[in-house]
Amino acid sequence: MNQTTVREYIEAVRAGDVNVAEFIAEVMEKSRKIQERYSPFITLSEKPAAKPTKRGMIPGLPISVKDCLCTNGMRTTAGSKILGDYMPPFDATCVKKAKAEGGIIIGKTAMDEFGFGTFTTNCAYGVPKNPHDPERSCGGSSGGAGCITAAADFPHVAIAESTGGSITAPAAFTGTVGLTPTYGRVSRYGLIDYANSLDKIGVISKSVYDSALMLSVMSGHDPLDSTSSDKASEDFTKFEGKDVKGMRLGIPKEYMSEGVDARIRRALMAQADRLAALGAKISEVSLPMTEYALPSYYLIAISEASTNLARYCGLRYGMQGEMAGMDSDRYFSKVRTDGFGDEAKRRILLGTYARMAGFRDAYYLKALRVRTKIINEFKAAFKSLDALIAPSMPVLPPRLSDIKELTPIETYNMDILTIGPNMAGIPTLSVPMGKAEGLPMGMQIIADHFDEGKLIAIGSSLEVIG
Ligand code: GLN
Repeated sequence: MNQTTVREYIEAVRAGDVNVAEFIAEVMEKSRKIQERYSPFITLSEKPAAKPTKRGMIPGLPISVKDCLCTNGMRTTAGSKILGDYMPPFDATCVKKAKAEGGIIIGKTAMDEFGFGTFTTNCAYGVPKNPHDPERSCGGSSGGAGCITAAADFPHVAIAESTGGSITAPAAFTGTVGLTPTYGRVSRYGLIDYANSLDKIGVISKSVYDSALMLSVMSGHDPLDSTSSDKASEDFTKFEGKDVKGMRLGIPKEYMSEGVDARIRRALMAQADRLAALGAKISEVSLPMTEYALPSYYLIAISEASTNLARYCGLRYGMQGEMAGMDSDRYFSKVRTDGFGDEAKRRILLGTYARMAGFRDAYYLKALRVRTKIINEFKAAFKSLDALIAPSMPVLPPRLSDIKELTPIETYNMDILTIGPNMAGIPTLSVPMGKAEGLPMGMQIIADHFDEGKLIAIGSSLEVIG
């Protein structure tokens, strides 16, 4: 059963050919071993399979959940010390849906604190190591999700989250598939927010089919999340293998600049050739607003993050400290000093500054106007194109020791290719596109709002021949 695909495994469970309880016990044993080697988890499930079922869309399927998503009775930290002992009394809607369809939660995956990072190195609980080279990063902020997906020798999918690229980056660096759905497609009820106008819940998996299946499980309107779209869920697996003949695909030239590793650019052109051989029409396009995407993203993200983090004051939310002999200001300051890591503190300071009276119009509101222009630019491109293709990340997975030497700005610049679509709230699918020096590279496919079906068709067509 170990090397079987998700699809084959589910068929076998339905047919009654698998003892799910025994299989999950094996999966937990393997997960503990993977944890010792690569640290993908913050918490491993203790009793994962209470009552395995043969019913639902994903019966008996092992699922990992990024640690910013609430899991009933299971510790949920968002990668932060300040939530170190938070035990949610409820499941996030996406987790609830996964369980209702038969999924079995095996653990909570490592992440940058509150999602603040690109390499899963801003961590209160240990840094996951890339299974392709343990000295290198898994990408972030959903690094644990990428790590376990790449390392697992059993059928598994990871529920992950992206604000500005946190699904694409780990998918690219770990050689896995990452689906970031349209903003609003999946309910965020039970997500510990990073930046509310940007956060999206998605999937990291071994194959395009698995991501499509999980999107079918998780999507749909949720009255508990007022930003969730009223689009009903559908069977996204039906787009797998759909013909790409005649599809019009654009390569944005701003995503192929000198700053992108030449090996990655070459691999992208090879993918374009494969798609052309399948009958797709490839052309170059220009998205000039790309230049402004990164600074405006960081303004919006940190402004919203700093308001979200205000609630962790040591009284209403989060870690509590010894109060005796302290006035409230000193108490709040002590809890926040002890509870937040460096990157969270940096973003609280910058975000608070950007929202201050007098600066708000110049920074936050201006950044929102830039976002509208970015959305309009993508919308205009999709009038004559079915999708865009581009590299997922500008670099190969870096060494963890080299990441320590990067300045914050150098780190933020690594998001240059993922920020645009994330700002626009449009869906993307990152698929593996071979290796350079033994390290995985990823290609992202970008489509218009609610066009996940096209992503699945294009991504799966490359799997067949790639
Ligand atoms: N690297 C980006 C950031 O730090 C995106 C992270 C994310 O999508 N959560 O904001």
